[in-house]
Amino acid sequence: MQTPRRRGLLIILSSPSGAGKSTLARRLMQWDPTLRFSVSATTRQPRSGETDGVEYFFKTRSEFAAMVEADGMLEHAEVFGNFYGTPKGPVEAAMAQGRDTLFDIDWQGGQQIRRSSLAKDVVSIFILPPSIADLEARLRTRAQDSDEVIAGRMAKSRDEISHWGEYDYVIINRDVDAAEAELKTILTAERARADRQPSLNDFVRGLNAEFDAR
Ligand code: 5GP
Repeated sequence: MQTPRRRGLLIILSSPSGAGKSTLARRLMQWDPTLRFSVSATTRQPRSGETDGVEYFFKTRSEFAAMVEADGMLEHAEVFGNFYGTPKGPVEAAMAQGRDTLFDIDWQGGQQIRRSSLAKDVVSIFILPPSIADLEARLRTRAQDSDEVIAGRMAKSRDEISHWGEYDYVIINRDVDAAEAELKTILTAERARADRQPSLNDFVRGLNAEFDAR
């Protein structure tokens, strides 16, 4: 018998920079290769090791503005003086195929998607650091940003954290393995929700047909 098909979920991960969100996103993708990572467009410069089209689509300001103008973004926002946005087409395609999409976006993007017509398909998760000292240490070990940029990111963290209550789930990342396990549990539970499986009626009809045939 066929497994019931369901719509794709929009799994939004937000956190202040340095709370371990990218590591957790990577681990979730390894755990479930059917997940699609939403590659955002950004006007910020690539960091060393970043590849265009993998971590981000790196755009000039005018290219970015043209995408917004053409209604090509699901959401977009200014973060740390640069623009970031989610290209719409790939998300819609994944949803139609019943594939779940993972978003690493800030609270502004999370809010825009939650307020859109896609709200019912959203599962939003906020990652908190165990302490501010830990957050700063992680930003420094990443060592990819200047002191000035790190100070800017720390200042923005408080603002980002203030939005934790808008999310469906909150995970405190004290230990990355435990946080990963929590994330997987959330995803597994959300996928099993009855209201996320529109073809459940057909499936149960099949079960009843089996009963009848006995
Ligand atoms: P970073 O420059 O460190 O890669 O990302 C900075 C912040 O921008 C992170 O909080 C990240 O989640 C957020 N971000 C990345 N892509 C998007 C996007 O498409 N939309 C929004 N709203 N935020 C994004």
